[in-house]
Amino acid sequence: MSYVELTVAAPVAAEETVTAALAACETLGGWVEKPGLFRGYFSAPAADLPERFRGAWCDLAGEACAYPIVVRELPARDWLAAWRATARPIAITPKLWIAPPGAGPENATESKVVWIQPGLGFGTGSHATTQALLRWLDRESPFRSVLDVGTGSGVLALAAAALGARRVVGLDIDPDAIVGAIDNRARNVQPGELMLVRGSTASLRPGHRFECVLANLDGPTLVDELPRIADLCSPGGRVGVAGLLLTEHEPLIDAARQLGLTLLDQRQDPDPTFGDVWWSGWFAAPDDTE
Ligand code: SAM
Repeated sequence: MSYVELTVAAPVAAEETVTAALAACETLGGWVEKPGLFRGYFSAPAADLPERFRGAWCDLAGEACAYPIVVRELPARDWLAAWRATARPIAITPKLWIAPPGAGPENATESKVVWIQPGLGFGTGSHATTQALLRWLDRESPFRSVLDVGTGSGVLALAAAALGARRVVGLDIDPDAIVGAIDNRARNVQPGELMLVRGSTASLRPGHRFECVLANLDGPTLVDELPRIADLCSPGGRVGVAGLLLTEHEPLIDAARQLGLTLLDQRQDPDPTFGDVWWSGWFAAPDDTE
């Protein structure tokens, strides 16, 4: 299948209009290559795309699009295979690596390697939010039991198992993510070592407790889920959250305080693509004896 790429060089402040105009033209997806340079992708052929984009812009902004637009047809190619070929092993810590199948790290015989096929759910280990949780997990492992809420590719759950957790459960509401996580599970552990469930925290039987609960979700979902996440964490256990922007973290800190969670560590990671900052937090659940 071949694709068409539309590039528009517009001010950063126009991002909302660019995104909405791309959506109005039924983009397959897009990204910000650098501040002020937006790209959207479409199925080919798309000869009238520049006119449609300009028309959508005019409807949305109430004025003509004054910025340069370039449209080019991309050669037919297996883009997923091409992306996979560029994936490289990532050292999360000296003892934990995330690597694509067939491209293991050299000289890492003392390390644990988690094999993740790029493209099978979010979580190749390259994102700052995933890495924040992996570092804390590595620092305090082994945990007896770990719950990964929003498991995506399964990367956090599989890392927990590699680092010695005996009971690991990964949840995801997206059925495609679960299919990908099952595939990645087969590369790393026996099926019984990681239970994968399609659903949210509400799918778990009441009374289930885990020594560590990890959740890399978006900010509003995390604030909403935090009471259930805290409930699923054993007394004195750990809760790791990521996926919020720095601008969203205060409501989460407030919710955590009300639930008796103590903030042990936090990180801020700038996102070079979007110019935002990710906030991640590592909490201790209240101890029964407190
Ligand atoms: N855990 C992986 C990581 O850290 O790289 C993937 C995180 S990805 C940002 C978030 C995942 O959470 C997605 O796969 C999404 O489908 C899932 N998700 C979103 N809301 C959820 C919810 N309420 N319960 C369970 N999964 C959810």
